[in-house]
Amino acid sequence: MQRVVVLGGGESGAGSAVLAKVKGFDVFLSDNGPIKEEFKAMLDKWEIEWEECGHTQEKILNANEIIKSPGIPDNVPLLVAAREKGISIISEIEFAGRYDSAKKICITGSNGKTTTTSLIYYMLKNAGLNVGLAGNIGQSYAYQVATCNYDYYVLELSSFQLDGMYTFKADIAILMNITPDHLDRYDFKMQNYVNSKFRITRNMKEEDCFIFCQDDPVTIGELEKIVSRAKMLPFSQKQQVEEGAYLQDDKMCVKVNGDMDFMYLKELALQGKHNVYNSMAAAIAAKAIKIDKKVIRESLMTFTGVEHRMEKVLKIRDVMYINDSKATNVDSAWYALDSMTTPVVWIAGGKDKGNDYSPLYDLVKDKVRVLICMGLHNEKLHENFADKVDVILDVQSAQDAVAKAYELALPGETVLLSPCCASFDLFKSYEDRGRQFKEAVRNL
Ligand code: ADP
Repeated sequence: MQRVVVLGGGESGAGSAVLAKVKGFDVFLSDNGPIKEEFKAMLDKWEIEWEECGHTQEKILNANEIIKSPGIPDNVPLLVAAREKGISIISEIEFAGRYDSAKKICITGSNGKTTTTSLIYYMLKNAGLNVGLAGNIGQSYAYQVATCNYDYYVLELSSFQLDGMYTFKADIAILMNITPDHLDRYDFKMQNYVNSKFRITRNMKEEDCFIFCQDDPVTIGELEKIVSRAKMLPFSQKQQVEEGAYLQDDKMCVKVNGDMDFMYLKELALQGKHNVYNSMAAAIAAKAIKIDKKVIRESLMTFTGVEHRMEKVLKIRDVMYINDSKATNVDSAWYALDSMTTPVVWIAGGKDKGNDYSPLYDLVKDKVRVLICMGLHNEKLHENFADKVDVILDVQSAQDAVAKAYELALPGETVLLSPCCASFDLFKSYEDRGRQFKEAVRNL
């Protein structure tokens, strides 16, 4: 019997183990740290052997194949040893893809993945298709392949998932953009990160589509170097494209296979320039699988967005409070600030990942009146922005941030939590940060 060892006992690992079991492998799951109760219960239910808080090498290095969870870096000693023994190391998505004949729409990029993935899923659901949502979002792809039977999957793929993919093929691949992120996992070489993102185009054939941002210089630079057989469908807010999506006055035009639809920008449910890109990518994908134009249009008008992404919380005393806690890098905060149409009380800060804040200077000068720095170490925000805002102050909790914002915001202004930074200094996660923010706003 072939032996499959799964490393990592989270959502992705537990799902992979279940799929391997269903497919008749001898399965063992090992996690370096503690495994959550819900996943232990799942593994027990499926009679899968597991261990936590350490790896037993002999039980791992006898594997025919290792499925590695995306959080584990490639260079840990155990994986180096496995590679030396010639054991193939793959990701959950590669493994599950082998057993899935559904049509796969795959989305990657530095920003906008979850929003675009959720929007496409919403469209396909509205069109009445039998569709699953997976990848970096919700229940694992492997678990769903083991237990469900879908005709379509919409898969959000991070670069870490893409790294362990070899024979997997997307029917429609979407690359939203590439800006520096996670470089610590790529030897601090941008090209390594770019290569990882471009793995989404691997194995594609003439009948497949590649949807990408024509306005993103990194993507375009790389496209000049590679050969892909897929049909190219770019989207742009700067120029007209022959096929794909582009702007014309106050309209978004989408053209696929000679068939053109348009929509007024003001009708889009998701507002802001970044969301125009997301809506464009989603609309092209939907048109490429021939979803009815009425369904596409209505979906784009009614999609309510995803929690923690430019999420409108409440309007109090004519001040709108927006939760954009997922903005954990400079580029996403740039789009958030750019989409603001009123003066802003900006709540930013947290764990700085080596940010270069200079792309935000002009926007902050233009739009931000008050900057509330919410982190353990706010010096860098002060250095960068003290001379660009009227008021700058420090807080160390979401509650204090909201209380200060309430005190200082004037009618007609917007309070925007768009931190630019990771959350781990004061919060468990960006979700925790966003929820604490919303709760504080609701308690005002
Ligand atoms: P991801 O899943 O790639 O992290 P999300 O859809 O969760 O992306 O959005 C993350 C953050 O990036 C949000 O704060 C949002 O405001 C911003 N954002 C969303 N779409 C884009 C885009 N196309 N380009 C740049 N920033 C974006």
